[in-house]
Amino acid sequence: MAARPRLCDRYRRFLPITDATPRLTLGEGFTPLVAAPRLGARIGVANLHLKLEGMNPTGSFKDRGMVVAVSKAIEAGATSIICASTGNTSASAAAYGAAAGIEVAVVLPKGAIALGKLLQALIAGAKVVAVDGNFDDALRVVRSMTAASGSRATLVNSVNPHRIAGQKTAAYEICDDLGRAPDVLAIPVGNAGNITAYWAGFTDYAMAGIVETRPRMHGFQAAGAAPIVEGHPIDDPHTIATAIKIGNPATWAGAVAARDESRGSIDAVTDDEILTAYRNIAEFEGVFCEPSSAASVAGVAKAAASGAIGRDELVVAILTGNGLKDPDTAERTVAGRIVESDASEAGVLKALDW
Ligand SMILES: *Cc1c(COP(=O)(O)O)cnc(C)c1O
Repeated sequence: MAARPRLCDRYRRFLPITDATPRLTLGEGFTPLVAAPRLGARIGVANLHLKLEGMNPTGSFKDRGMVVAVSKAIEAGATSIICASTGNTSASAAAYGAAAGIEVAVVLPKGAIALGKLLQALIAGAKVVAVDGNFDDALRVVRSMTAASGSRATLVNSVNPHRIAGQKTAAYEICDDLGRAPDVLAIPVGNAGNITAYWAGFTDYAMAGIVETRPRMHGFQAAGAAPIVEGHPIDDPHTIATAIKIGNPATWAGAVAARDESRGSIDAVTDDEILTAYRNIAEFEGVFCEPSSAASVAGVAKAAASGAIGRDELVVAILTGNGLKDPDTAERTVAGRIVESDASEAGVLKALDW
């Protein structure tokens, strides 16, 4: 096991890890940063890279923060973890909780979780409660439950600062891979923990003198769930991108600070723009991400068209989660594409129009 470093060891100097912190890992982090020349040409940026966060152990970036949050919870003596989730936090909490041997409780908005994410939480043995409400309602419930539970249970939503600390590591990796900071970091924004974490990570590297610059942070919300863009909470958020279907982001102020300090922007993209990007990422680069993740690329396309992102800037778009998590959206997207044939060469040739 000596050859492959652990994320928490590699970046320990920037993390709240001490000798007393349990050494938990599922092999998180070190995700690929891949050049995307065909997609870039399509959407008007010449130097586009995709950070494939769907290659984390449970298929989303949540694992980077969860490994730190669960380790610190155990260090502090907790025997349970609890979260509200649009799906990926619960999948990650369930996995790390199982590996650590502690109780996991997750509270979800009923009917609003992509199938793969729900199954991940259940198969790992988490207790799952589906509430008649949205994510913001679920978060309100678990926050007050945690406050009432004393030290027994730790809340592992991104309001837990250890989540944010762990998620900063993605920014370090990008700089390590590029040998510099990008000009632009494009990222989906839901509860706004991740954009806050990336900005903190780039700032750590700049303060440490490892990079000379920091990127402009361009965050993207779904148009039906864009409270930061509109400047007020949204009571009934709606979007196909369920991982960012959040009406009142817990880390709102962090997102605004990242935007303003970096001279970036937070903008909205429509579900149509998201689904176009979702297909393009797969068809032009062979990468299958979940719809929420495609908001980053949809946003780059929109900003490139308006001139907010320059054609020759070095752009990194974060693909936050794996496409296999949401088979329903994928199925609807490709419906009717299978051509049937009898099992003869002639039949297949005809079916393919070869
Ligand atoms: C959690 C999540 C987001 C949103 O991240 P925030 O930190 O809540 O802004 C985006 N995409 C995916 C796939 C996620 O799981």
